Amino acid sequence: MQSEFLGIDIGGTNTRLGLVSSKGKIVSSGRLKTRMDAGPRALVEGIFLKAARMMGENQIIQVGAGIAGLIDHRKGVIRFSPNLASWRNVPLKDMLEQCFSVPVAVSNDVNAIAWGEYKYGGYGTENLFCFTLGTGVGGGIISDGALILGANYAAGEFGHTSFEGNAKCSCGITGCLEAYVGNDRLVRKARRRMNLASPLMKLTSGKEITPRLLARAAREGDEVALKVFAQAGRRIGKALGNVVQLLDPEVIVVNGGVSKAGDLILKPIRETLKRYTMPLEGRKLRVMRSKLGDKAGILGAATLAEVLL
Ligand SMILES: [Zn+2]
Repeated sequence: MQSEFLGIDIGGTNTRLGLVSSKGKIVSSGRLKTRMDAGPRALVEGIFLKAARMMGENQIIQVGAGIAGLIDHRKGVIRFSPNLASWRNVPLKDMLEQCFSVPVAVSNDVNAIAWGEYKYGGYGTENLFCFTLGTGVGGGIISDGALILGANYAAGEFGHTSFEGNAKCSCGITGCLEAYVGNDRLVRKARRRMNLASPLMKLTSGKEITPRLLARAAREGDEVALKVFAQAGRRIGKALGNVVQLLDPEVIVVNGGVSKAGDLILKPIRETLKRYTMPLEGRKLRVMRSKLGDKAGILGAATLAEVLL
């Protein structure tokens, strides 16, 4: 019988589960639908049943969950999650502990991702800033080996750092970075500018534009798609300048769907960041695409108890 950690990534549509070995390998994965209307109790029961099937003869000694939103990591309570808007003040930690009878840690999903990147990404640093690029733009801070969570569980909200301009953000503030480089914005901009002869038009041919298609079009030389990534990269690079000045990270890891565009977005990020970073003799700073991708959230959640409990 082996001891394993259970990592849970609760998304608005799906909840993903992973059993993680003591060596940091995901040995078994599972997935179930997240149904907001069925309520949190149904989800917790679903997680427990799925995990029981996954673990077989082995035992789970620790459980961790990551979920988007404002999560009280001290009490393990979902204060508010944008994906599950009707779930307010859900004591997720207590509910999972009642089922599993082992220690449970709960945090914001991007904090779990940052912790996973730090612990298992092999970047060789104690100072790492991780951000995710997708529908939203999230951030997680590891400083001198500690996960920084903040007084109101809201540290690292990179997407809602002030940028410029008047775009209204989903959080209610005007001019957040997310309002300029979130998926919606990239796709909207591409749709507005593409023309009949563009590779993007051919690729999409009536289908919805996704960041993945946008990246493909850019690789095929589509000028609109290339411009969209270059501009987003420049904006992110400038915003990261503030992060570097405040936190002095050694490694910046980019995760999330749009990070799969690779150098299309990383190159302008790196070039711009250089311009907005105070020159220091021998400064150590790398911007890298995630090595763990979708696995980071599960790996980080599974071992969150180490840092939160
Ligand atoms: Zn915002």
